Amino acid sequence: MTLFPRPPVLFCDFDGTITLSDNIVAIMQKFEPPGVKPIIDDIVSGTKSIRQGVGEMFALLPSSKKEEIRSFVLETAGIRPGFPELLAWCKEHDVPFYVTSGGIDFFVYPLLEPFGIPADHIYCNGSSFEGDNIEILWPHACDDECANDCGMCKTTVIRRFPRDEYYRILIGDSITDFAGAKLADLVFSRSHLTEKCRELGLPHIAFETFHDIIRHLDQGGLSS
Ligand SMILES: [Mg+2]
Ligand SMILES: [Zn+2]
Repeated sequence: MTLFPRPPVLFCDFDGTITLSDNIVAIMQKFEPPGVKPIIDDIVSGTKSIRQGVGEMFALLPSSKKEEIRSFVLETAGIRPGFPELLAWCKEHDVPFYVTSGGIDFFVYPLLEPFGIPADHIYCNGSSFEGDNIEILWPHACDDECANDCGMCKTTVIRRFPRDEYYRILIGDSITDFAGAKLADLVFSRSHLTEKCRELGLPHIAFETFHDIIRHLDQGGLSS
């Protein structure tokens, strides 16, 4: 811990990182609203921003399905091993831990409930079920310095912790982490994010469980 050049701060993705798989993908596969496929293709190819695509996908689902979707996620989403231990490690070493999620409040908060993370340390998108179909709300949209149209903008959150004061560590797995990874001093990566970090030459350590991350943090990150 004394090995880091500046006090570390952790920004951790939710879908496919804290949870074993991506819940938005799982929801769309399970409920299969007609017309969802081309939207997914457009997000993956970058033709549509994440904010636009995610908003359009959920707008295909009726608000009446809220409880069904929430129960589905709560029953099927597994938590990656070592997550409570990482939270305990952060507490013990006084390292701030933020959840930076492109997921939606109505499943992110219930899934994280058992772990006692303060609400103001969880960033995710919002939702409204007042209309016929689900509407996604964007309380943490991009600031002036981000032109990605992220939805939940991880770079906006990360920029609040200046690089000269903090050692910024991002944990993630996929497309919602690409922009934030470019700002981080160190990335713990899985899946597509590992490929992206390799491609861009970003400092990263591939991980499978949060136990791997704790081990590397104990050894000072990249110096191990
Ligand atoms: Mg993810
Ligand atoms: Zn952004």
